[in-house]
Amino acid sequence: MADREKATDQMTLWKEGRGSQQPDVLTTGAGVPIGDKLNSMTAGPRGPLLVQDVVFTDEMAHFDRERIPERVVHAKGAGAFGYFEVTHDITRYCKAKVFEHVGKRTPIAARFSTVAGELGSADTVRDPRGFAVKFYTEEGNWDLTGNNTPIFFIRDAMLFPSFVHTQKRNPQTHLKDPDMVFDFLSLRPESLHQVSFLFSDRGIPDGFRFMNGYGSHTFKLINSEGKPVYCKFHFKTDQGIKNLTVEKAAQLASTDPDYALRDLFNAIANGSFPSWTFYIQVMTFEQAENWKYNPFDLTKVWPHTDFPLIPVGRLVLNRNPLNYFAEVEQLAFDPSNMPPGVEPSPDKMLQGRLFSYPDTHRHRLGANYLQLPVNCPYSAHVANYQRDGPMCLNDNQGGAPNYYPNSFSAPDTQPRFIESKFHTSPDVARYNSADDDNVTQVRTFFTEVLSEDERARLCQNMAGHLKEAQLFIQKRMVQNLMAVHPDYGTRVQNLLDKYNAEGTKNAVHVYTSGGASAVAAASKM
Ligand code: NDP
Repeated sequence: MADREKATDQMTLWKEGRGSQQPDVLTTGAGVPIGDKLNSMTAGPRGPLLVQDVVFTDEMAHFDRERIPERVVHAKGAGAFGYFEVTHDITRYCKAKVFEHVGKRTPIAARFSTVAGELGSADTVRDPRGFAVKFYTEEGNWDLTGNNTPIFFIRDAMLFPSFVHTQKRNPQTHLKDPDMVFDFLSLRPESLHQVSFLFSDRGIPDGFRFMNGYGSHTFKLINSEGKPVYCKFHFKTDQGIKNLTVEKAAQLASTDPDYALRDLFNAIANGSFPSWTFYIQVMTFEQAENWKYNPFDLTKVWPHTDFPLIPVGRLVLNRNPLNYFAEVEQLAFDPSNMPPGVEPSPDKMLQGRLFSYPDTHRHRLGANYLQLPVNCPYSAHVANYQRDGPMCLNDNQGGAPNYYPNSFSAPDTQPRFIESKFHTSPDVARYNSADDDNVTQVRTFFTEVLSEDERARLCQNMAGHLKEAQLFIQKRMVQNLMAVHPDYGTRVQNLLDKYNAEGTKNAVHVYTSGGASAVAAASKM
């Protein structure tokens, strides 16, 4: 059928790609040819089965083990491959080889995802989107594991498990729970900035191609003279920003829940390769000392006027995965993968993720997950003293010594790769960062970035979800919005008053993620 989209026609295209090649001979997992794969081996035509039917047991035993743990967050996603090309010289800031010269290309893998929903959830929910890029550099893999927003709900990683629990299912009902969502958010007003982004139009991007990406955290860049600066990373979509209306998103959630996966696959299969322009923002250590905000606070941006975007390069996605499980489900990003020249800042969220991500991968994929083809640093050469463990996929570094130091010319350390030195001498304590100006940048967003129409939709979207929560939680949330701007709080309160009077709570619940769903919201607006 000539008019079928590429994603739907995948099997035909695969077959055509094989040309006149003869079909493979069917085998067991061990490669032993199989004579009959349709009928189990039984004693008589009505059974029972025989244990010696290893064709059956080989197939069934593997089937029983097909699933690996779902990612706790960012479970549903799409991946693609391509390259990063340097278009502007930033070697004055960073010595990483990936930025070595204009025109240099580095292979990349990217994965986009929703955050809260499970593997089978709809792509068109109101939720942040994951935006993760793995650069396969000759100095090892560099993973920029960000989102489609430059900020996040919380600024201290200690709160992350609780925050995520509120986005997931109620422990008894196993339902999405608006009380959990808004109880937590209203108790932690540092979430106001991200919550306002989330309920704005950009909270439901039109697939993955029409959204920006951000490294989100503050990082450090080090140049070849050892001079450090702080830095933020931005990927701006070359396709332009496009979002879905609440109504369209709701419709797609029921008619095409895999809308974003399909869109990305088809675009690439049709040769319409999505791209993003890569920028950095730079802040000197002196500026960081004197800035009015904590530059490592993940709930805040660095304003463009103070810290302008500096162009760096272009990211292009031009290859679909050949196999989803191998190349996307097993694709593991880790913010602690940084090449020499890129280092962490003190950002508490980043520091928490440096531990949490590789820890999760070791649990989910196993101790040797970095040997999987999609995760292995294939542009570099791994030489260390790690050996063995489950599912060792390569030569385990052969006969090279497995201890250090040794006298047999095993890999050595290199002073030129030592991390930059920095000074720190504060008292160790559990510092409370809850009230670190939660409103000023949100106010700027509300009053200066959004148009009047966008403000109206933000308030509608917010109230449309918040009305599902109990009254005392609604009240606390509105108080927080009032602190951002009286107009913000008043508009949401007015809408809530209307909904509460109409008794439109608990109408249709088709929860997806991020609290009440677009479907529920649309049905009541
Ligand atoms: P600018 O006035 O220079 O630019 C506004 C920024 O807001 C642009 O990056 C724009 O992205 C982005 N934006 C527009 N609509 C939305 C939306 N619905 N959700 C999220 N982002 C949106 O910004 P400043 O740097 O002076 O900062 C002012 C405010 O803008 C901040 O307080 C923050 O709320 C918001 N912002 C700032 C960003 C930054 O990194 N400085 C990034 C994103 C938002 P685009 O250019 O792609 O249209």
